[in-house]
Amino acid sequence: MQKITVVGAGIMGSGIAYTSALNGFSVVLQDIAEASLMKAKNEIEKIAAHSEEKGFITIEQKESALKSISYESELEIAVQEAELVIEAIIENMDVKIELFQKLDRLCHPNTILATNTSSLSPTEIGAQTSRPGKVVAMHFFNPVHKMKLVEIIRGLDTSDDTVEVIKAVTEQLQKESVEVNEFPGFVTSRMNVLIGNEAMNMLMEGVASAEDIDKAIKLGLNHPMGPFEMGDLVGLDTRLRTLEYLYKTLGEKYRPSPLLVKYVKAGRLGKKSGKGVYDYEKE
Ligand code: NAD
Repeated sequence: MQKITVVGAGIMGSGIAYTSALNGFSVVLQDIAEASLMKAKNEIEKIAAHSEEKGFITIEQKESALKSISYESELEIAVQEAELVIEAIIENMDVKIELFQKLDRLCHPNTILATNTSSLSPTEIGAQTSRPGKVVAMHFFNPVHKMKLVEIIRGLDTSDDTVEVIKAVTEQLQKESVEVNEFPGFVTSRMNVLIGNEAMNMLMEGVASAEDIDKAIKLGLNHPMGPFEMGDLVGLDTRLRTLEYLYKTLGEKYRPSPLLVKYVKAGRLGKKSGKGVYDYEKE
């Protein structure tokens, strides 16, 4: 396995592309929006420069990683040689299915198709292709170059071979993996959105300020990040879509907080839009 195509050049796609290139893969990063591709290229160059300055990687590693990534807006060209495609587009089942059907038509029959979904069903996605055995979820965490885990979620028909290949790729990316049987929200998203949603409800009820809720969870419960810092990093729109899906599939306890809905309606999506629970434009 040498060639990976990442589809979707947002927060996650850029991180997955950079981490893959740094660990020896030849990478094509694809997005339908030219603006996203340009933003991703800048972001990747920034992360690589910062990692080199801090001594985490050598200048040779940086240059070789940057050279290993090409940027492409045409899907057909982007996946021509891909042995593995990792999808990181919007968290919406209809849009993901449409993309996987296209990938199924365009990719070599041996190509493995992975989704970086936070919660959706790889079984449902795989069933819409002619290769459900080669469809799997590979759930990375944000920021990808720093976070150690990949959750590997098997769909009902995902083959053992596919899971073994994905485990080997994960190892080459210098990450740990856990294997999870498909269930809405997997392990991490199911837990994480509940904490974030409860924090939003507390903020709405006036229990404490956002800063104090974050501080309490960090210092009192030993979480490395507060729930609002985490939500702003993930993107409040992405967080809301995950909650809406879990509310539909798992019930009442995942009902999205009205305050979260209000923030998303206002365009306060977190760090990526400059403002979420916190204001990043002031920084
Ligand atoms: P994002 O909004 O930052 O980026 C999505 C990108 O996909 C955009 O650049 C958009 O132009 C592009 N896109 C949309 N439709 C496309 C298509 N049909 N073909 C090609 N590109 C397309 O989103 P993100 O936060 O990177 O999330 C991507 C996926 O990763 C979602 O499924 C999300 O649930 C999952 N995820 C997110 C996080 C997180 O912390 N943000 C963590 C783990 C998993």
